[in-house]
Amino acid sequence: MTYIKMPQYDIFIEKNGLLNLPKYIADVYTYHDIYIVTDETVYELYGKKIENILVTHKVFFVVVKPGEKSKSLDTYHQVVKELVQKGMRRNHLLIALGGGVVGDLTGFVASTIFRGVPFVQIPTTLLAQVDSSVGGKVGIDLEEGKNLVGSFYNPLFVLIDPEFLKTLSKREYANGLAEMIKAGLIGDKKLYHHLLSHDLVTEEEITMAIQVKRAVVLVDPYDKKERMFLNFGHTFGHAIEKKHHYESYKHGEAISYGMLFALQVGIKYHETKQELYDEVKELLLARGLVKEPLLKMEDYIREIQSDKKFLANGLNFIIVDRIGDAKIVPLKESDFL
Ligand code: MG
Repeated sequence: MTYIKMPQYDIFIEKNGLLNLPKYIADVYTYHDIYIVTDETVYELYGKKIENILVTHKVFFVVVKPGEKSKSLDTYHQVVKELVQKGMRRNHLLIALGGGVVGDLTGFVASTIFRGVPFVQIPTTLLAQVDSSVGGKVGIDLEEGKNLVGSFYNPLFVLIDPEFLKTLSKREYANGLAEMIKAGLIGDKKLYHHLLSHDLVTEEEITMAIQVKRAVVLVDPYDKKERMFLNFGHTFGHAIEKKHHYESYKHGEAISYGMLFALQVGIKYHETKQELYDEVKELLLARGLVKEPLLKMEDYIREIQSDKKFLANGLNFIIVDRIGDAKIVPLKESDFL
């Protein structure tokens, strides 16, 4: 078992760690009742198993539909109502069991129901394990845009069990790999090199990816400045997701193209080498994250210009010209034309 210490909580990374859930809970929670929010897919796969593991507790499940649509005000309302109707009190524990949608939604419920209840994250997708479950951001989407309502709210602990990854589809697995490749590129050369030659990850690489995020989150817990480094590939990635109405491309796929575009920008305006672009492109092709013919940067520049982060004096763009070392480069609108 590996554990990563955050200022206010621990992240446990343990193969079959789910079996030790009662022990982890016993350290932070003394009551009998536990409320778990999950989605239909995860409930189907792990609902019974969790009930058996938490046999000495009384467990109440709230099950939402799988998919991004559940990160909505409607689902938020439905979940809060169901928790209250099932008898939840403000000192009862709430567990998020699922991917990023369930984690963000449940975290936001936890931060607001009864003005905040104790909360635990058990991320079940690779993307949620290496990214969304770390850093304390929780929230929901509006029709007007993603993550427009939310807060910063820390869990009591995060339990990461790589065994969950065995039930992921190949596409969902790759979705998480994309954020790990990003983590390697911006902050850990060793991780990047490992990912170049391995298509499966273990506890060790998950830990490395989380460490990259942790380092940034610690200096910038409220997303004022340094967290920006985590946005490598995301300026164009978000533009791609938006232009295709969040349907054609998964987040990891969109940021994979975004990373290639950012490397192209780096070649044009900075010291990024063509060889790095070629290597990353081969890797992303091999993992099925991008496909030939590749999307073209020109087709997304209009979306970038309407981005709210595009300030009057330019856009802070993240460039990687040496592996493991990201830079913020201010670019003007005309630089993209
Ligand atoms: Mg991301």
